[in-house]
Formats: sequence, structure tokens, C-alpha cells
Amino acid sequence: MAVVLDGKKLAKSIEEELLGRVEKFKQKSGRVPLLATILVGNDPSSATYVKMKGNACARVGMLSRRIELPQSTTTKELLDVIEGLNNDPSVNGILLQHPVPKQIDERAAFDSIALEKDVDGVTCLGFGRMAMGERAYGSATPAGIMKLLDHYNIEIEGKLAVVVGRSPILGKPMAQMLLNRNATVVICHSKTKDLPALISQADIVVGAVGRPEFIKGEWVKEGAVVVDAGYHPEKVGDIDLTVAATRASAYTPVPGGVGPMTISTLITQTMDSAEAHL
Ligand code: NAP
Repeated sequence: MAVVLDGKKLAKSIEEELLGRVEKFKQKSGRVPLLATILVGNDPSSATYVKMKGNACARVGMLSRRIELPQSTTTKELLDVIEGLNNDPSVNGILLQHPVPKQIDERAAFDSIALEKDVDGVTCLGFGRMAMGERAYGSATPAGIMKLLDHYNIEIEGKLAVVVGRSPILGKPMAQMLLNRNATVVICHSKTKDLPALISQADIVVGAVGRPEFIKGEWVKEGAVVVDAGYHPEKVGDIDLTVAATRASAYTPVPGGVGPMTISTLITQTMDSAEAHL
């Protein structure tokens, strides 16, 4: 029977620990850690994700400041809002919900977030520092996945990890984090040839494709560790888990695997940022 990598359970225990850290911080500083969230436009999924992040802050006693900008927002307007938050000492972390409307230069917006407030790990500077093994907040989803793997003592060193997807917030940092931990990493993308053959050799498979059940369970090697970062409205991920779970030694369920770890990593890094400036 495969081990279920239960992100929901781990995230809950991390939140319980955070409650104590927030309380101590309040007593020492007289302040409350604060995450600023920015939602641009009216994408309903993005609105739900931002709401979930705000709710998580409330559960651990942190504050969240919700900033909502219209669909027509320009890059300059967004950069001005971020600059204001960078300069506001009461703000410990800034989350800009991805994706932003097409007219906005998302990379410029991400990169305008001050490194010490980049608790979602989206800046080029943070990525570069992480890649070089320097201190930086990791991109929340892959950093959450690493925590989950570590919690369940999944061996990474020397393993062949196949990451399907190379987005700046997920696939690329995921591959780099696995490489930092001495996995041998193959990164797959839309131009990759013979994906099934590559996946069938993997000791660790990470699905970050953005297409429901795109990775077939039959492609997964017996005994592999299966991480499904995808989430779709039909409550499935990027991997066909009904079959993959019968072959894997361990797997992340959807929902209840990677998603809760993303949020818990975001609020943990907000706490870290607050403590760093105590
Ligand atoms: P994305 O920006 O759309 O990137 C998708 C990646 O998949 C791209 O690198 C793309 O390759 C690759 N791809 C597309 N078609 C492919 C194919 N046929 N074969 C191999 N690779 C292919 O998506 P994302 O933001 O990384 O998100 C990926 C998934 O994770 C989505 O399901 C999303 O909902 C989920 N997600 C979950 C969380 C969470 O907290 N649980 C957070 C973020 C995202 P190219 O680069 O060549 O285009």
C-alpha cells in the first residue's frame, strides 16, 4: 500500500506551531505579522486562492491586508502599489496572485517586490539566491512539496526526479530545489519528446503541467514517489492518480496534498520575515 503524503495533516500541524510563534512575536514586538495580498482583476479561482490565504493568516492569528485592483490596472499602477507595500514597515510579506491580466508585465511586478518581503518566492533575485544555495524564501509550492517529502522521509539524494513543467513559480524552482538536494533532475515541457519513456524511469515524478490527469498512471514506475501539484475544478490533478497510486510507493492526494502545503509555506515564510525584522 502506498504511503499517502498527507499535506492537509502536515499543514494543520504547521499552523498549530505557527499559533505559538505568532503569539510570542506579538508579546515581544507589540505588533502582528501581516501578509499583504494583491488580487488584480476578477478571475474567480484567483479570488478563491487569495481568500484561502487570508483565512490561513486568520487561523494562526496573523493579519492579512487584501488589496483588490481592477482588471484594467496598468503595470505602472501595480508597481506603485507594490512600492507602497515595500515601504510600509507594518507589511511583512507581499503576495501578488498569479496570473495577472495580460496587459501587465507580470515579471516586472514580481521583481519589484522587495526581497525581504518576497514570502511567495517569486522574484528573479530570490530564485537566483535559492539556486546558488543562498538564503531566500523559496517559491511557495515547490518549497511546500520539499517540506512534505522531508516530513515523510522520502529519500531525494541520488534519485532520478522527473519534473513535468518548467513554469517560473513551480516547475523551474521545483527542479532546482531537487537538484540542490542532490537528485538527478530531468525537466520536461511542451517540446519534450517521449514523455512516457522519461517518466517510466523516474524515482520521483512531479506533475506541474496544468492539464487534468495528463500524466497517465501506467507511465509511473513501480515504487516511484508521485507528487501531483496540479489542481482542476473537477477535483483532479495533473496525474491520473487512480492508477498511479496503485504503482507508487508514496503519492500526494488531490485535494489535500500539495495545495495546503503551498498556503502553509506562504504563511510560515511571512512569519519568518516578521521575525527577521523583530
Ligand atoms: P503553467 O505556467 O501553465 O506551466 C505549465 C508547464 O507545463 C509549462 O512549462 C509547459 O511547457 C508544460 N507543459 C504543457 N504541456 C505539456 C506537455 N504536453 N508535455 C509536457 N509539458 C507540458 O502552469 P503552472 O502555473 O506551473 O501550474 C501547473 C499546475 O500546478 C496547474 O495544474 C496549477 O493549477 C497547479 N498549481 C498548483 C498550486 C498549488 O498550490 N497546489 C500552485 C500553483 C500551480 P512549456 O514551458 O513548454 O510551455
